Amino acid sequence: MTIKGKNVLITGSTRGIGRTMAVEFAKAGANVVVNGRSEISEEFLNELTSYGVKAIGVSGDISDFTSAGEMIAQAESELGAIDVLINNAGITNDKLLLRMSQEDFEKILQINLVGTFNMTQQMVKLMMKRRSGAIINLSSVVGLIGNVGQANYAASKAGVIGFTKSVAREVATRGITVNAIAPGFIETEMTAVLSEKIKEQMNATIPMKRFGTTEDVAEVALFLAQAKYITGQVLNVDGGLVM
Ligand code: NAD
Repeated sequence: MTIKGKNVLITGSTRGIGRTMAVEFAKAGANVVVNGRSEISEEFLNELTSYGVKAIGVSGDISDFTSAGEMIAQAESELGAIDVLINNAGITNDKLLLRMSQEDFEKILQINLVGTFNMTQQMVKLMMKRRSGAIINLSSVVGLIGNVGQANYAASKAGVIGFTKSVAREVATRGITVNAIAPGFIETEMTAVLSEKIKEQMNATIPMKRFGTTEDVAEVALFLAQAKYITGQVLNVDGGLVM
């Protein structure tokens, strides 16, 4: 599949990795559905359409099943069939286990994992009828190796990997690919909260000795969206952090 002229829905694409993905897919000729929890800025949609593609905004909360379904319905009625779904929206709320309440744990699972289910299940239903589609889920290297203070986030991102592989098996004969990207440390607002000292310590552990850029992740999403014979895989985009 070539991405030119295809319709791509990217959750959590108002900033960070999702925003760069929206720009890179638009540059590659794809029509883009931008999602965030609040109103999507006209200015950003205009930036995307300047690449000669269509761009629409759908606001909604992926952690709510009904809201997820409404977003997909709105996107398809305004743009047509969605060819690629990127489950990118995700949050962190770091705390050591002994300080983590059940609510702290469940909230992260609800958005990162249940949100991915809410979008995927309702999208797959439509993609199965059309016998084509690509789904890309954002996991994290933290889901593979864990991290201090991120038991909730790591559990959600490990869950995304199991979910990806299971759904990939279920829909493999229906022309739908399902893959995950596991970014390492990427320069975004999510990591901007880290102190310079912590960032230096993290850099020291990365073989490539730098944080990734949002473009580093977006180019892998572009590749996976077009790869016809790759499914159920997790691609680490982490400068060699996990080998
Ligand atoms: P970010 O915080 O910069 O952006 C997250 C986006 O998701 C925002 O647009 C936010 O509005 C949206 N969002 C959050 N909750 C939502 C909800 N319930 N419904 C709809 N939208 C919602 O994050 P980022 O750093 O760009 O990360 C993007 C994805 O990549 C996340 O899934 C994150 O876990 C993953 N990731 C990031 C890093 C990193 O270093 N930044 C590393 C590994 C994985």
